[in-house]
Amino acid sequence: MLGGMSVRVRYAPSPTGSPHVGNIRTALFNHLFARRHGGVHILRIEDTDRARLVEGCEDEIRESLRYVGVEWQEGDGVGGAHGPYRQSDRKEAGVYEPVWRRMLEEGSAYWAFDTPEELEEMREFQQINKKPTGYFGGVWRDADPAKADEARAAGKPGVVRLKVPRGETIVLDDAIRGRIEYDSNLVDDPVLIKADGMPTYHFAAMVDDRLMGITHVFRGEEWISSAPKHLVLFRSLGWEPPVFVHVPVIKGKDGAKLSKRHGDTACLDFRRAGYLSGALANFIALIGWAPGGDREVMSMDEMAEAFDLKGIQPSPGVFDLDKLNWMNGVYLRQTPTESLYAGAVDYARREETVGYWAKRVPGPGEVDPHVRLKGLRMLAEADPGYALEAVRLEQERVTTLADLGPACSFFFDEEPEFDPKAVEKWFHEPHVPRLLDHLATALETQDQTWTAEACESLVRGAAEALGLEKLGPAVHPTRVALTGRTVGPGLFELMAALGSDRMLARLKRARGKVGVGA
Ligand code: GLU
Repeated sequence: MLGGMSVRVRYAPSPTGSPHVGNIRTALFNHLFARRHGGVHILRIEDTDRARLVEGCEDEIRESLRYVGVEWQEGDGVGGAHGPYRQSDRKEAGVYEPVWRRMLEEGSAYWAFDTPEELEEMREFQQINKKPTGYFGGVWRDADPAKADEARAAGKPGVVRLKVPRGETIVLDDAIRGRIEYDSNLVDDPVLIKADGMPTYHFAAMVDDRLMGITHVFRGEEWISSAPKHLVLFRSLGWEPPVFVHVPVIKGKDGAKLSKRHGDTACLDFRRAGYLSGALANFIALIGWAPGGDREVMSMDEMAEAFDLKGIQPSPGVFDLDKLNWMNGVYLRQTPTESLYAGAVDYARREETVGYWAKRVPGPGEVDPHVRLKGLRMLAEADPGYALEAVRLEQERVTTLADLGPACSFFFDEEPEFDPKAVEKWFHEPHVPRLLDHLATALETQDQTWTAEACESLVRGAAEALGLEKLGPAVHPTRVALTGRTVGPGLFELMAALGSDRMLARLKRARGKVGVGA
C-alpha cells in the first residue's frame, strides 16, 4: 500500500526484438516496486504494431524475465481479472472500440483521411518553413463531421486522431524529474486508431493502463515527449492519470547510449555468456537506482525491501561491464560448490551456450571460444566427484560459468598442452629432471593417500633433497609438469585433487620433455 492506494504496475513490452538491459531494468523496477508495496505486477504484451513483430520474441520476453527473477502476478501466461493481456487479443475482444467511439462523439478525437502523399507534402512544407513537424490538424481536425462520414462512406482509409487542445500548458508531474511543462501548440495530434482498425501504442497503452487499474507507469525516458499526449488522452476521457515514472536512459562507459557497439545488450546473451541470474539482476537494478549507503551486493529480497522512487536518479545510468564481472565473481564465490558445479554442467550442455561461443569473435587476450567450449564439454562429461573438486579449486579464480571451462580443462585433459613460456622459463633449469624423478619415485613407492598436506611434505622433501634454498624452484616446475601452466589454484590442493595416478602419468610425460639427467 502506498498512501492507502494499492499499487498496480505493469511491464508492457512490445515483442519487436530481444529484450535488452534497458527493458529488463524497467521490468525489474516494476517487480521491486510491486514487492516493496505489496502490490501487483502485470505483464502485458503490446503487439499492436504488427509490421514490427518478431517471431519468438514473446517467449524470449518471458524467458528473460524468469532468468532475472522478475515475477508477475497477473497477465500474460498467468491470467487475471483484466484479461486478455495481449493487445491484439484485446482489440479482437472489442476492448478499445467503445472508448474511441466515445471520444469521437464527445469531440476529443476526430477522423482524418490524409493520403500518404498529403502527409509527406505537409512534412516538407513544415521543414522548409522551419515549423514543428507533425500533424496539427490539417483539413480534418475542424472539418464538418458530415465530411468525415462522406469519406468513410466512400471507403477512404481513415485514422482516428487525438484532438490536442491548443494554447495550453500541459503539466506532467513526473515521479523522478518533477514538474515538466509542455506547450500544447507543439504537441501534434497522434493517431489513436490506424486505418486497419488497430490501436496505436498511445491509445492502447493508456486505455489499458486505465482499465487495468495501473497506479504507476514505469517506462523509458524516451516516452517523456509523448507524455503530454497521454495526459490529454486521460483528461479527455475524464480519467485520473497514473503516476508516471520515466526511468533514465542507459549509457555505455563512453557516454554513448547503450547499443550493440558496447557488446552484449540482450538479456539472454548474458545467460549465454555465463552470468548468474542473481548477479545480473543485482547489477541491472543498480543502473540508475541507488539503494542508499554504499550497498551494492543485494539479493532480490534486500532490493525489494530497499526499493524507493527517490533512489532513482534522473541522470543517465551507466552500464559498466567491469562492475558486472566483479559482481558475478562475488555471486559465483558465494554459490555452494555443488550448485555451482550443477549450474556449470547445465550451462555447458545448453545449445545456446554452444551457439553463443561458436559465433563469438574473441577480443584481444580472450580465450579462443573453441578452447572454452572444449573445456566446458570436458567439465560436463567428467566424473562428477573429480569435476566437483576441479570446480571447488577454480571457483575462487573465475568470473563467469564460461570461465570454468578453460580454467578447469587441465584437470580433464590427460595431456594438457604445455604453455611454451612456462616450458621456456622452468624446464631448462638443471635441477628439474631430478625434481621430477624424485616426485615420481615417491609416488610410485609410497602407498598412501595423497592429501594436500602429504603433497606439501612431498614437495618440501624434494626441495630439501635437491638442496634448493627456496620452495619456488620446486613448486613452479611441478605445477608446469602437472598442468602445463604457471598459474592456477594452490599447488598442494591441486595435487591432491589430481591424485597419484594422474600425477605420475603427467610427471613422466613432462620428464620426457626436460631431457635426460642433469
Ligand atoms: N510497449 C512499449 C515499449 O515496448 C512500452 C512503453 C510503456 O511501458 O508504456 O516500448
